Amino acid sequence: MEIHNVYCVGRNYRLHAAELGNDVPSAPMLFMKPSHAAVQTVEGILRVPGTQGSVHYEAELVVRIGQPYRPGMAPDELFSHLTVGLDLTLRSLQDELKAKGLPWLSAKGFRNSAPLGRWLAYPGEASLAGQDFGLRLNGREVQRGNAKDMVFGLRELADFVGQAFGLGPGDILFTGTPAGVGSLSDGDVLEWWYGDRTLGQAKVCMDP
Ligand code: ZN
Repeated sequence: MEIHNVYCVGRNYRLHAAELGNDVPSAPMLFMKPSHAAVQTVEGILRVPGTQGSVHYEAELVVRIGQPYRPGMAPDELFSHLTVGLDLTLRSLQDELKAKGLPWLSAKGFRNSAPLGRWLAYPGEASLAGQDFGLRLNGREVQRGNAKDMVFGLRELADFVGQAFGLGPGDILFTGTPAGVGSLSDGDVLEWWYGDRTLGQAKVCMDP
């Protein structure tokens, strides 16, 4: 499926903002990844940088936009697909960049930094709140979240992004990660899921 803009929201779950020592923002905090970062990883090898410090996983609900954005549009009309993806982050590099006031791109936008699971038809806002999503690392659950715990919900995010930057078919939006982020190691096996469905699976290969 063709991917255009890759928008991401930071600090959109209170417990995750707290675990990294960040305040909850008063407006959505947006950043982007190059579309080249997005890779469909239903099953396979996930190659990530191995020589730039810790690589953190952040499992997130990801929505795909199916219609040109118009103000006030309902999420059920705007979004066409849903999956769970990982917002991979070079955390030590990000901390260095933040300390220097520099952009995050190198820490957030490297190749394969946005692995995506299998796309599902967007199930609708009501159904979404009834299903948890999360991540298993080597068979152990490390993250579990639910859209209803977002600081800024899908409607607010869509209006914010649509009005500030524009939203159109093929754009995707990472909606923030719940608590439980941590580092990857070479050979780790990741499985990310929504409800009772595993949407993506990958074995981590840290590039030498
Ligand atoms: Zn994130």
